Amino acid sequence: MRAMVLHQLGGPVVLEEVDKPRIGPSDALVRVRATGVGLTVVIMKGTPGRVTSYPRIPGHEIAGEVIEVGSEVQNVRNGDRVVCHFYLTCKACRFCRSGRETLCENFGGNVGMACDGGYAEYMKVPALNLCPLPEEIPFVEASIISDAVAAPLHACKEEARVGPGDDVLVIGAGGGVGIHAVQMAKLCGGRVLAADLSMGKLELVRELGADEIIDCKKTNLSKEVERLTDGKGVDAILDFVASSQTLEAGFESLGTAGRLVILGYRPPAVFKVKPTFRVDPLVVLAKGIEIHGSRYVSMAELIEAVKIVKQGKIKPIVTQTFPLEEAERVHQLLQENKITGRAALVI
Ligand SMILES: [Zn+2]
Repeated sequence: MRAMVLHQLGGPVVLEEVDKPRIGPSDALVRVRATGVGLTVVIMKGTPGRVTSYPRIPGHEIAGEVIEVGSEVQNVRNGDRVVCHFYLTCKACRFCRSGRETLCENFGGNVGMACDGGYAEYMKVPALNLCPLPEEIPFVEASIISDAVAAPLHACKEEARVGPGDDVLVIGAGGGVGIHAVQMAKLCGGRVLAADLSMGKLELVRELGADEIIDCKKTNLSKEVERLTDGKGVDAILDFVASSQTLEAGFESLGTAGRLVILGYRPPAVFKVKPTFRVDPLVVLAKGIEIHGSRYVSMAELIEAVKIVKQGKIKPIVTQTFPLEEAERVHQLLQENKITGRAALVI
């Protein structure tokens, strides 16, 4: 089969002919139809330890069809359309058994990093990681549900607890996950203040429902939030950039009982600077502030994300598609901040 293969830390992915994966008793073989491409892959391939061995086929956001199942598999059948939960979890520990499997005590890493992923015609995956995909959702849109649409669901509902009327600041609102967080925060009833560095991205974000847009190239983020909230600050922040600068500006922008939710991570190995930030404990105490880390979603939440897309309440935003062999070009465009929303490989 054709696949884009990574041979070394930070290296490019290259087109190769490799053997089709052979499945074990609890696995499924998926014919990949589309794979989302986001900064997750760029960061992963440049961060020591994330890819567990080489050669490795990246790609964590996939949609496709099941074409073969192992002897023990009961949850999917040949011909099923599916998307994929990309955390390799034990399904047995106390976190897995309580709907918090992203904190699995025996975490095995991510699809596309600890095992081969979706930059290929076929992919082997534990069948229990697969989630049914209804006919109504095309494969390209479906591929990015796995991460870009689903991650904001957990962040908005469980971590930021966005409710009707809440002022919600989304930092990195024009990126692959941020653009869906804007829609999700609106769906939860929030008034969304969307911040990004590019007017082109912010215009699309406004079309998708953002109430206010903040161009961080032209204005000071915390001052603008203060102005837009009549000095009160916001109830919740979803920070997808999570640099020292955005986290400190976000912390300053929180109102009383505000929730700061961190979703992004900028590894020093890739971005050449530490993303640590300063927090004044007196402010945390006095305002009753909460700081949350939001890790992906449970399988139950992924099923919910698919349902929300089927209902038309969230639109998956894939602005550009590319053939498999152009994956490395997409990585370049992402690093240059030139992709609005998500890009996808059509396979
Ligand atoms: Zn577990």
